[in-house]
Amino acid sequence: MPKRILQLTTRLSNQIAAGEVIERPASIVKELLENSIDAGSDRIVLDVEGGGTRLVRIRDNGHGIHQDDLRLALCRHATSKIADMTDLEGVATLGFRGEALASIASVSRLTLTSNQLEGNEGWQVTAAGEDMQAEVMPAPHGKGTTVEVRDLFFNTPARRKFLRTEKTELTRIEDIVRKISLSHPFVDLVFNHNGRVLRHFTPGLTGMDESRRIASVFGQGFVENAVYLDESHQELKLYGWIGLPTWSRSQADQQYFFVNGRMVRDKLITHAVRQAYQDVLYHGRNPVFSLFLVLDPRQVDVNVHPTKHEVRFRESRQIHDFIFRAIHRALADVRPQVDANSPEMGGAAGAASFDQPAVQSSIRFGSGNPGPGGAVAEEARHYGDLLSQVGSSALLPASSDDDIPPLGYAIAQLHGIYILAENAAGLIVVDMHAAHERITYERMKLATDSEGIRMQPLLVPISVALSERECSAAEEHEAELTALGFDIQQASDESIVVRAIPGMLNKSNPEMLIRDVLSDFLEYGSSTRIREHRDEILSTMACHGAVRANRRLTIPEMNALLRDMEATERGGQCNHGRPTWAALSIAELDGLFLRGR
Ligand code: ADP
Ligand code: MG
Repeated sequence: MPKRILQLTTRLSNQIAAGEVIERPASIVKELLENSIDAGSDRIVLDVEGGGTRLVRIRDNGHGIHQDDLRLALCRHATSKIADMTDLEGVATLGFRGEALASIASVSRLTLTSNQLEGNEGWQVTAAGEDMQAEVMPAPHGKGTTVEVRDLFFNTPARRKFLRTEKTELTRIEDIVRKISLSHPFVDLVFNHNGRVLRHFTPGLTGMDESRRIASVFGQGFVENAVYLDESHQELKLYGWIGLPTWSRSQADQQYFFVNGRMVRDKLITHAVRQAYQDVLYHGRNPVFSLFLVLDPRQVDVNVHPTKHEVRFRESRQIHDFIFRAIHRALADVRPQVDANSPEMGGAAGAASFDQPAVQSSIRFGSGNPGPGGAVAEEARHYGDLLSQVGSSALLPASSDDDIPPLGYAIAQLHGIYILAENAAGLIVVDMHAAHERITYERMKLATDSEGIRMQPLLVPISVALSERECSAAEEHEAELTALGFDIQQASDESIVVRAIPGMLNKSNPEMLIRDVLSDFLEYGSSTRIREHRDEILSTMACHGAVRANRRLTIPEMNALLRDMEATERGGQCNHGRPTWAALSIAELDGLFLRGR
């Protein structure tokens, strides 16, 4: 006999819903902080005990909840944030599903106290029993709301087993608090654990406060090694901090992206950022960033997943391009420029600090001994050319301080590896191979950009079986494929014939190549794969072509290299993301000799 159908109790159905949103104490902290922010609070106190399993309590000074609505606030699908479909399509608040409080209340002992008015006469509810009926009682409370969550998962032992140590849970809570403090700089946020103040984020009202807030999240080193970016295009705005390529990490753990103030994890965004760094980051390293995208809420669907971590953009291709371009441009501007007055926030000058951690990749100098050879002779010619172009007067030290260029003038070469130069602030040390490699690479890219990509006809055209989706992508993007150096023809609904591929990729497997490119088109609306391959090849070529160690340069040759670096995009790092130069100011030098103490 099949079993009969039963109506689940309110609590059980809320517990089922809680399974999706309330995974651990950090999820509670996120939902409750978001509620406080949605209520317009600018002062929030968060008390946590036992990593959040014993207690999470949030008190805010927001607009509060009407006493007649208190009971409703604990019901599922009850919200003050949307009322109809139009609202849902343009959600401007962090919450809108009306699920969090009901879910949390079903798996913990929750008390909600609130007061909409000045004074101390608030009201309180606690949900108890299977039907979660709540009693409303008077309780003293100033204007604002307090949510107290005790004994998380006391009634769902299976869930409780998945909780980790107090320390691990606390780390996750800290991560959430950090993110919220970044995305809402105007909120004064105090975070206590087991009765001790862990963090106090004061409101970031000025640029200085903001960089302090950034520093408290990422460390002071980041601020000194980051570039601030602020770009707008039509209805889109992207701003925030991106780390210099030389400030990369082995983990992708310091990457914060916010869409209209909501923290998100999104494949499209990750891809766009990765692309923008592709050229300057050593393989396997991850950039650090805290970026904010602002756009019309109707252009983004936030109702993708109950945790609201994912979003869907209506114009995904445009967003991808915009993010890529903004970051790419900001990174391209990273070239040597030393501002003697503000050594800290010099942005591009970040790579110049000596106390930053050692460069993250193995330096290939010294291994192998290229010695003078064909490539070097070529180089000597190159600098000869440069000398005649620039005119030797520009390469000689200037008479007054104002005319000294950022990287100064060469004074010597050290061990055939480093150029030592003197600028207004002190000493500059340049890794000449790394620097020259970047200059050569950028030059080669410019040259291939202006000539376009050459097609290489295949001896025997090959037929490639594709899915119907891939085939229609090939048809739709035919012009772009041609520009990338492909010659293809539709053969049927599920196959194409490839007659030519990009010349410089003639060693690759054409079938895999076209498939990869089409999948880029399907996923991101564009493909930078060919460019990436091309750049990889150019980068290798540049590395081989660059001045090797142990080559003596004359002073004018060294000066020519310094001037070239100042003029080259991304001149601050070599193609592998290593810094090309470093600075030691007179003050730092004095420090070494305990002068002036
Ligand atoms: P949602 O945030 O999706 O609306 P919640 O279950 O998180 O759903 O909250 C339900 C409702 O309770 C909210 O819509 C809001 O009206 C009210 N609320 C919750 N927390 C607060 C708070 N801190 N201040 C004021 N109102 C709140
Ligand atoms: Mg909410």
